[in-house]
Amino acid sequence: MEIDRPVRYLKSVGPLMASRLEKLNIRTIKDLLYHLPFRYDDFTVKTRVSDVRVGETVTISGFIKEIKNVFTKHGKRIQEGIVQDDSGQISLIWFNQMYLTKILHAGIEISLSGKVDFFGQKKALISPEYEIISPENKETLHTGRLVPVYPETKGISSKWIRKRINDILSDALFTIEEALPDSFLKAHDLMPIAQAIKEIHFPTSQTQASLARRRLAFEELLAIQLSVLERKRSWSNKESASALKIDRDDLTQFIQNLPFSLTSSQITATKEILDDMTKKSPMNRLLEGDTGSGKTVVAAIAAYETYKNKLKAIFMAPTEILANQHAATLKALLSSHGVRIGLLTASHKPTEGDYDVLVGTQALLFRDQMENVALLVIDEQHRFGVSQRALLTKGKLSPHILTMTATPIPRTVALTFFGDLDLSIIDQMPIGRKLVKTYIVPPEKRSDAFVWVKNEILTKNTQAFIIYPLIEESETLSDVRAATKEYAQLSESFFKDVATGLLHGQMKSKEKSDTLEHFSQGEIKVLVATPVVEVGIDVPNATIMVIEGAERFGLAQLHQLRGRVGRSDKTSSCLILTQTENELVLKRLSSLRNIYSGAALAEIDLKLRGPGEIYGLRQHGFPELKAADLNDQQLMLETKEAAKDLIDGLDQLPALRKSLESYKIDEVSPN
Ligand code: ADP
Ligand code: MG
Repeated sequence: MEIDRPVRYLKSVGPLMASRLEKLNIRTIKDLLYHLPFRYDDFTVKTRVSDVRVGETVTISGFIKEIKNVFTKHGKRIQEGIVQDDSGQISLIWFNQMYLTKILHAGIEISLSGKVDFFGQKKALISPEYEIISPENKETLHTGRLVPVYPETKGISSKWIRKRINDILSDALFTIEEALPDSFLKAHDLMPIAQAIKEIHFPTSQTQASLARRRLAFEELLAIQLSVLERKRSWSNKESASALKIDRDDLTQFIQNLPFSLTSSQITATKEILDDMTKKSPMNRLLEGDTGSGKTVVAAIAAYETYKNKLKAIFMAPTEILANQHAATLKALLSSHGVRIGLLTASHKPTEGDYDVLVGTQALLFRDQMENVALLVIDEQHRFGVSQRALLTKGKLSPHILTMTATPIPRTVALTFFGDLDLSIIDQMPIGRKLVKTYIVPPEKRSDAFVWVKNEILTKNTQAFIIYPLIEESETLSDVRAATKEYAQLSESFFKDVATGLLHGQMKSKEKSDTLEHFSQGEIKVLVATPVVEVGIDVPNATIMVIEGAERFGLAQLHQLRGRVGRSDKTSSCLILTQTENELVLKRLSSLRNIYSGAALAEIDLKLRGPGEIYGLRQHGFPELKAADLNDQQLMLETKEAAKDLIDGLDQLPALRKSLESYKIDEVSPN
């Protein structure tokens, strides 16, 4: 059996089921095998009928004595049955499953797993899982064992998935290729892949299930570590860059002339970056720092030194708004030193000829190649591959690359996923910055909150953001207050006599930049927006951040939104509005009241919401993890070491090389 074939190849999967499986990202037979259970129902306790006790979860096998539909006084439909083994008989109760009487008849041999409870006066198995036992095959799948429970979707139940996977695994022609050498498996105490796949779905014990998961997680992380390591090697071995010369006195002078003094984090980061840039091998560094921590000025210093070496720099921003803002910031910091700043976006083409620093959005920058580019600064973007760099810059030398992110990533995760980059962290806010006071606002206080906001605006001449999760109301998320609709309402009600504006990602870029400009200038007091504002807008006079539907955001993302305010010496507030009454969600949200470190909040997201929720990972092009848990630091470290041992012999391991393909990190492309 070729496991790379589409699922349609399976006898029992037609077009309808195949399209449903797509919703679970299952396209091939292999995808189905790697659709892993998130838990097991423990139905391993097998009992004789005479021994069952109320409260226990048990498995019984016997023969159906009778089964019928019963209608209660209240119009409910119950299925009542009796099962018998050689020790006695017990009642079976299901609710609203009329079809059962068509499937189960007196005389059928059956295995049942479920909880024993009183139903009226009698002991009964309540809503048990059942499975008809055929005389030829007494092995059970859905009862009497550790039964896997899978992520499901409409029309695809765990029971259905279980059967399909069992079909594949029991196919005489089924094989799955082992990617890891025997000695490696032994050295790291890993079970062979075929066994791991069997045990993860149909474990013989909990221990075997966790060993199976460990094996799969190991391979998954190993593949990531290997591809990251390969990128790092090809980068530092094959490429060469312009080694800058730095005039220390001039640099000191430049830093002293800045409108503020740098934090010690900024100084360290600057030093690390400039050290890299004096080398012949190209820098490939990630600058991580909470929003507002002051990454731009650090990049500006690097651009200044590039200019001093008569070379050019490119700043790449994810949106036009940010490109405009970067251009303005860089002009303020660098123009007086003679640095010419150009801006290139959809609505702004540079007019005159030559620039020392060109700022723009990615699609446009890819169109116009520049010569003598020695520094490429990428703000909140994917990482770059060799081919992308070539598209961007003419010439034989590679630029030094500085990637900046405010995405708070837990450290171990950064070391795994960004292992090919050197890491500089700004973990300090500029002095004098006050913490943003954070409040969780329940639905009944929503009006009060808006009245308060309006009052602050009128009496303190401040400005506010109000953020909504979505642009348009969507049917599936009907409870979400959509920005467009709420904007209309808010500007007619609470903010009737206050200047309001709307900003979202689907507006034309001219409209966007106009609105933002008006907000920056203080002409708009209340900006209603989708999370587009999160990436890096800097309007120091705005001191109030209101977030509606906050339960829909991860903590790290909320933290980034909060970072839009608190950018001056004024007191700022963040109002977290939520409709939820779920205690766990409220507890999660309230961590924002006392935690102000993006990385710490990301750790909590990771623990509570799982790796898929690490905000920004997917944005950075990483594949979703199936078996590995990013909370397992031990395994991340072990696989990192293992990858170093394997990397040189990788070409002798074609199966492993092939499996790396599916963990390849996406590279940014011109579109
Ligand atoms: P981010 O890291 O989010 O990109 P920015 O670079 O936009 O942050 O900086 C946020 C604001 O803080 C800007 O207005 C910037 O001028 C200011 N800033 C940066 N560094 C300092 C500092 N050391 N002291 C005071 N203000 C600073
Ligand atoms: Mg920024």
